[in-house]
Amino acid sequence: MQWEIVVGLEVHTQLSTKSKIFSGASTIFGALPNAQACLIDIGFPGVLPVLNRDAVERAIKFGLAVGATINPVSIFARKNYFYPDLPKGYQISQYELPVVQGGSIKIQAGHYGSEHNKNIRLTRAHLEEDAGKSLHEDFDSVTGIDFNRAGTPLLEIVSEPDMRSSSEAIAFAKTLHSLVRWIGICDGNMQEGSFRCDANVSIRRLGENTLGTRREIKNLNSFRFLQQAIDYEAQWQIDTLESGGKIQQATVLFDSSKRETRVMRNKENAQDYRYFPDPDLLPLEISQKWIEQINNSMPELPMQRSCRFMAHDTTSYADALREQFGTKPETNPDILIKQSCHMATVNDIHKIYALSAYDAAMLTADITTADYFEEVVKIVGNTHAKLCANWVVGEIITRLNQESKIIVVSLISAQQLAGLLLRIVDGTISGKTAKDVLNDMWNSMDGVTADAIIETKNLKQVSSKEEIERIIDEIFFTNPRQVSDYRNGKVKAFNFFFGQVMKATTGKANPAQVKKILAEKLIA
Ligand code: ADP
Ligand code: MG
Repeated sequence: MQWEIVVGLEVHTQLSTKSKIFSGASTIFGALPNAQACLIDIGFPGVLPVLNRDAVERAIKFGLAVGATINPVSIFARKNYFYPDLPKGYQISQYELPVVQGGSIKIQAGHYGSEHNKNIRLTRAHLEEDAGKSLHEDFDSVTGIDFNRAGTPLLEIVSEPDMRSSSEAIAFAKTLHSLVRWIGICDGNMQEGSFRCDANVSIRRLGENTLGTRREIKNLNSFRFLQQAIDYEAQWQIDTLESGGKIQQATVLFDSSKRETRVMRNKENAQDYRYFPDPDLLPLEISQKWIEQINNSMPELPMQRSCRFMAHDTTSYADALREQFGTKPETNPDILIKQSCHMATVNDIHKIYALSAYDAAMLTADITTADYFEEVVKIVGNTHAKLCANWVVGEIITRLNQESKIIVVSLISAQQLAGLLLRIVDGTISGKTAKDVLNDMWNSMDGVTADAIIETKNLKQVSSKEEIERIIDEIFFTNPRQVSDYRNGKVKAFNFFFGQVMKATTGKANPAQVKKILAEKLIA
């Protein structure tokens, strides 16, 4: 029997505002328990919530980034349930009219080289407050509650059930994670719980149109757990159906140590929550003007930026944008680029580098990397964009990954790297020597320039033609037999001379140049 896996994700992104969504309390992570919970957060009688404008702006930013509709009026609703970490007995959320509706995210699923583009539709994204946290570990047989997280703004992003495997779900979650960080609405810190996924999983026979019964796996806070949980759950459902059982809709928890899903509660329906509009909060009105203001402050998005990085010229750039964003084919390239890049600074539009899809993907994985790369290119020059990409991807990113660091804390500034690459470009040092210089820069940590290292270590290539000619003449003089051997047809002697020159210059001669001069002189 062939089964198809169906996945829809609900992602809770914590918006990185300074204060909470309905109060002025701080949202900084790691404070002492209950040090950041004010009367509003713990739901004292008589307090009134006041909506945080910054949280709304961040939701709007997200909506714009995914091509969604920003509802001109949206409503906050009370979602009623009982749980110790929910002091009011209800969570303020959005139900019927969320702030963001629709939109989609393009993912690249599959392995590099055989990946396919897929559009994942979004149902909605709504604002809500987070709950507190029960702490079991710090007390003997007592559970404490930390309300610091209560009232932290969340944007819950809900996808349509458009994913067909755990790897598509991971690709979606990663793309979303990178996007919310890129537009600066969420810090994406998964250890601190800033980005948590619920995965809804069902299976159906291949070719069937109706969806199977889903089970929802709660609170997955790493990509690895997300993958393991979906794989396990799908296999469990297949085994259950194949052995004649039935799937019951349920909410389950993933036990990462046992690698299994366990029922937490049978699924509640929306009516169990008795949603109703919160009488303490006015409908949220968002004007077109406000949306436009926010739109103008948006950065160029990752997909647009990677199109630009790959483009060879304005026409290919426009074509790529058209393919990505589905704009009408008759549009004039310049106008199309300006429209699609309404978020790019106009100055960026013609910065195109003809990079490979791989380089572009690596360099647009996060905005700091993309900025770093462009800063390097700005100094080294557009004609050497490929060289810059090779070094940022092959050296800087690789080294940072090895040390599990991110580019923000890169030990080498864009200026330092550019200074090094300029010395390759002008022939002062070879690429090979440059790697040694990079090592020194990496380890020294004090912002030392490439030039200083080249100078003190005397690493300059011998590239003066006269100097190389002089060395060759000397070698010819001391090895007359090899010279006549070569001239009598023993071409292997060439390698002997080449080796001698490189030895005499302690490897600092430019190999291509040596070969050229050597060939000329041997013929003479
Ligand atoms: P709730 O809020 O009660 O969890 P929603 O209707 O908002 O319910 O759906 C939540 C998520 O479940 C969405 O991401 C949706 O795509 C996904 N989903 C719905 N039906 C299925 C299904 N049969 N299989 C897999 N995912 C599903
Ligand atoms: Mg749900």
